[in-house]
Amino acid sequence: MHVRELDELLSDAAFRVADAAFHMLYADRPFLYAFQLLVSRRVRQIDLSAYPEVFLRPGVLRRPNSLPAWVKRAVFHRDRGRCQRCATDLTGVAITNETIRIDHIVPLAESGTNDPTNFQLLCEKCNLDKAASIGFDEQRVHTYW
Ligand SMILES: [Zn+2]
Repeated sequence: MHVRELDELLSDAAFRVADAAFHMLYADRPFLYAFQLLVSRRVRQIDLSAYPEVFLRPGVLRRPNSLPAWVKRAVFHRDRGRCQRCATDLTGVAITNETIRIDHIVPLAESGTNDPTNFQLLCEKCNLDKAASIGFDEQRVHTYW
């Protein structure tokens, strides 16, 4: 009886901790960058033949047709509506003609993933300048205080 109650308690606690941990880590862009570099090393080692629908070629995942709206909103809010390279305001309040780009921090060509933790907000110019390079600018990490 006690064990079953403890199991339920632990399951509930694990769910709550996982959710809270994701929220904290999702805001930590340096951590996400380091994590995505580790993931990209693993992506290069995956046997392509086991997942032909997922890979474009060895070590390169297919680009999604579109991103879910919730992913775009999450990236926009985490990056506070600013280009993560040049800090241009992309909220549309002050400048209304900027195009928002959701960029792969570790590009697909470098074995990056389509995971929400591998995206950053960029303006059109910075997205074109970055192209397929690995791009993360720690200077653009903003603390909440
Ligand atoms: Zn920019």
